[in-house]
Amino acid sequence: MPDGAPLTASRLDGLSRAVLAWGARRDLPWRRTGDPWSILVSEVMLQQTQVSRVEEAFKRFVARFPTPRECAGAPSADVVRAWAGLGYHRRALALHRTAALLLERHGGRVPATRRELEALPGIGPYTARAVLALAYGHDTVPVDTNVSRIVARAVAGHRLRPAETQDLADRLVPPGRARELTQAMFDLGALCCTSRNPHCDRCPLVRRCAWQRAGGPDPAGSPRPQSPFAGSDRQGRGRLLAALRQASLPEDDVAGAAGWPEDRQRSARVAAALVAEGFARWESGALVLA
Ligand code: SF4
Repeated sequence: MPDGAPLTASRLDGLSRAVLAWGARRDLPWRRTGDPWSILVSEVMLQQTQVSRVEEAFKRFVARFPTPRECAGAPSADVVRAWAGLGYHRRALALHRTAALLLERHGGRVPATRRELEALPGIGPYTARAVLALAYGHDTVPVDTNVSRIVARAVAGHRLRPAETQDLADRLVPPGRARELTQAMFDLGALCCTSRNPHCDRCPLVRRCAWQRAGGPDPAGSPRPQSPFAGSDRQGRGRLLAALRQASLPEDDVAGAAGWPEDRQRSARVAAALVAEGFARWESGALVLA
């Protein structure tokens, strides 16, 4: 594979096992509960506020509003008051409206589907996934900047588009272990795989990390610049994906579609990488979009 090791199921399994064995490292108040409302409150608070500032505010808020019913029944001024210290008070008002909608639409419970969660004020795909993983154990990892960095570095070895990152993050989850894996990934990003100067020497992924295998981080800690695009495997990969979006490709046409009619070996390698990463599959002798 041109960019890092192939993303086989066993490689993904090895990466997630290593993260799970390392485990979550921070004792945070919202991690001591499985209550979906409390977890939703914490995730809304964490959207734009640092963990250290959220800790006390979270405890105060859930003590005052332990369920959506108490929150919905309070004047909005009380909810905003309980939000003190967090900034971006519009989130408090959105949470207040959410509490009322939970009573109106869901019998006072936090729903367990993305569609229902994302229909609530101030809840986007990330927060919905966080609630599903952390409160309901759905097999997904919410991708914040920490998770995105780990997936790009350790799993892929290069920058990824958001949809690719989410797809890979979800493929890391062993069934039923989303909560543990998500918390451990958050902590790994905060404590080891930091944006600048990552602490690879104490990282549980150091022997499996695609970025390390490719020579390790540069001194600034940002991903190494990729090689020029023109003539690269990435360019052929892009051409193949574009062609596959139009139609399936018989095996004999793959080299031409990749832009290397004379180099079947190279096109086969790039096609194999697309299959290994789950973007394409072989069907009756043709490459098709997965
Ligand atoms: S080995 Fe270094 S770059 Fe790779 S995941 Fe760990 S901290 Fe990040």
